[in-house]
Amino acid sequence: MNHLYDVVVVGGGHAGCEAALAAARLGCETLLVTLRLSGIAQMSCNPAIGGLAKGQLVREVDALGGEMGRVIDATGIQFRLLNRSRGPAVQAPRAQADKNLYKSEMRRRLEVQARLTLLEAEVDSFSIKADRIQGLRLKGREPVVGARAVIITTGTFLRGLMHTGDAKRRGGRVGDASSEGLSPALSALGFELGRLKTGTPPRLDGRTIEFSALEEQPGDREPQPFSFETDRIDRPQVSCFLTRTNEAIHKIIRANIHRAPMFTGQIEGVGPRYCPSIEDKVVRFADKSSHHVFLEPEGLDTDSVYPNGISTSLPADVQDQIVRLLPGCENARLLRHGYAVEYDYVPARQLKSSLETRRIRGLYFAGQINGTSGYEEAAAQGLVAGINAARAAQGKSAWVPDRSQSYIGVLIDDLVSKDIREPYRMFTSRSEYRLLLRHDNADRRLTPIAAELGLVSAARAECVRRNDEHIRAAIQLLETSPHAGRTWAGILRRPESSFASVAAAFAPLAALELSTLEARQVEIEVKYDGYVKRMRAGLERFRKSERIRFPAQIDFHGLAGLKREAAHVLARFRPETLGQASRLAGITPADIGVLQIHLRR
Ligand code: FAD
Repeated sequence: MNHLYDVVVVGGGHAGCEAALAAARLGCETLLVTLRLSGIAQMSCNPAIGGLAKGQLVREVDALGGEMGRVIDATGIQFRLLNRSRGPAVQAPRAQADKNLYKSEMRRRLEVQARLTLLEAEVDSFSIKADRIQGLRLKGREPVVGARAVIITTGTFLRGLMHTGDAKRRGGRVGDASSEGLSPALSALGFELGRLKTGTPPRLDGRTIEFSALEEQPGDREPQPFSFETDRIDRPQVSCFLTRTNEAIHKIIRANIHRAPMFTGQIEGVGPRYCPSIEDKVVRFADKSSHHVFLEPEGLDTDSVYPNGISTSLPADVQDQIVRLLPGCENARLLRHGYAVEYDYVPARQLKSSLETRRIRGLYFAGQINGTSGYEEAAAQGLVAGINAARAAQGKSAWVPDRSQSYIGVLIDDLVSKDIREPYRMFTSRSEYRLLLRHDNADRRLTPIAAELGLVSAARAECVRRNDEHIRAAIQLLETSPHAGRTWAGILRRPESSFASVAAAFAPLAALELSTLEARQVEIEVKYDGYVKRMRAGLERFRKSERIRFPAQIDFHGLAGLKREAAHVLARFRPETLGQASRLAGITPADIGVLQIHLRR
C-alpha cells in the first residue's frame, strides 16, 4: 500500500464531484479517481440543471454547502423558474448550462480544493479485510491504494453497452470506455446487480437550423441564481426554440420499429418510464399526432444543439430522416447520432440510509449506480455519501437527512426502502411534505445543519439565521396586527392580496425592509398557513416514528405474531426505523402494531 487516504471517490461525475468536495472540506485527505480527467462533471445527456423537483434538490445541495448550484450560476445561459403560475410547492428553478464551461468550472473547483487529489485511472477491484474496506486496485498499477472509506460513483459505466440500431459498442457514454472490472468484483463480494438503460437524442448543428420559423422560448428577464452565495447572474442569456414531431415522423418510426433495439429484445435493461425515447412515445401514445421538441443550445461558443424530446436508439439512417422532418430542421446536419446505454446498477436496498453498504463497512455507493437517473439526484447522493464517508473516517456517527426535512431525505429513504426496478428520478409527488420542502426555503431548512456538520462558514449560517428571524418577525407582525375587523395576515390571505399590496398599506411591514426572497416566503407561509399547519402536525407524528430505531441485529423472522410475508419483507429491506418499516410495500398497520409491542419490550 503506497498511501492511505481517508476517503477515495471512484468517478468524477456529478455524484463523485460533490462527494470528493464534501469529504475534503470536512478535513479528509481525499483522492478522486476517474477514467478521464477531461470528463469530470460531464453532462452525458441534456445540458441543463434543475427542473421540477430536481431544482429543489440543487437548492438543497447548495444549502448544505455543495457545489452544483454555484457552478450552474457561473455557467448557466438560460434561467427559468418553472410552474410560475402554479402553487409554490411545485415551482422549481431550471437553467441551461454552457456544457463545456460547466465541466471546466467544476474541475477548477476540484483542483483548488485543499486536501483533494485527482487521478486519472481505472479502479478494477477492492481490497477487503474482515468485511471492511482497506483500499482499491487500479488497473495495470501496483500497489493497492489504501483508504479508510471508498465511495463508488461510476454512473452508467459498469459494463456499459451502447446501442444505435443493431450496432453495439462497449462504453459508459459516447467517447468513453466502459468499466468492466468492477461488476465482477462487486458480485464476488455478494452484491446483487441489475441492468438499467437510458438514452440520449442526436445533436444538431445550430448553424443549419432555421430558428426564425420556430417559436422562441426566452429565459426569465431577471434570472434567479440557484445558490445562496451568488449575487447575480452576469453571463449572456440565450433562447431555446420549440418544434414538434408530426405524423410523417411517426409513420417512419412505426415502419422501422422492428429495427429499434428497445423492441427487438437487443436491450435487456429497463428504461425510464417518465423519460421515454421517441420510439417508445410513438408506440405508447399511439393516439398522439405530435410531441414537443425543445431545441436547446449547448453553449455560447459551440453550435451544438440538443433536441430535447427525441431521445432514440433507432438506426442512424432513421434518425437522419426523423430530424429532417422536424419543422425548422429540414436542412439540419447531425453532429452525432442518438443512442441508448445499458449498464449495471446495484439495487440500493443493499445500503443503509447513510449510503454505506450493509455488507462492507467503509464502502459507499452514490449516484446512478444506485438506480437513479439525473445529475441532481446523483449530486445529492454524492454529497451525503461524501459527508458520511468523511465522518466514518473520522470516527463520527452518520448523518441521515430525513424525508420531512428535504427532498434529499426523500430520495435516500425511497432508494433504500423500495425495490428500484427502473431508473428513479425525483418528482414533487414523492414528497408528502412538499409544501414545506420548497426551493425558496432550502437554506432555512438545511444551512443550520450544514454549519453543524462543518460544511458552510459561520458567516453564511449567520446570514441564513438572520433571514429566518426577519421572516418570523414579519409573520408574527401580520398575525398580531388587527385591521378592519381582521388581522393583516387575514388580509394577505385574500386571493387578490400580495406581500407588496399589504406592505404598501401597512407601514410597519414595509419598515422591516425584507429582501424579495424573504417577502416571497412570508407571502407563501401566510397564504398557505392552513396547509402548512396541517403538514407540520403530520410531520410531528412522522418524526416520532422515525426516532424509534430497530436494534442492529434484530431477527424479524423470530418475532412472535408477525406474519411470515411481513417478516420476509422486513428481513429483505432491513429498515432502520419504525417509520421506514411503515413505508415498505407489504407492511400493514397491523404489522407495525406488532413491531411496536416488540420494541416496547
Ligand atoms: P456519471 O456522470 O455517469 O459519472 C461516472 C463517473 O465514473 C465518470 O467520471 C467515469 O469516468 C467514472 N468511472 C466509471 N467507472 C470507473 C472506474 N472503474 N474507475 C474510475 N472511474 C470510473 N439523466 C437524466 O436525468 N435524463 C436523461 O435523459 C438522461 N439520459 C442519459 C443518456 C445517456 C446516454 C447517459 C450516458 C446518461 C443519461 N442520463 C440521463 C444520466 C445522467 O448522465 C446521470 O444520471 C448522471 O450523470 C449520473 O451521475 P453519476 O455521477 O452517478 O455518474
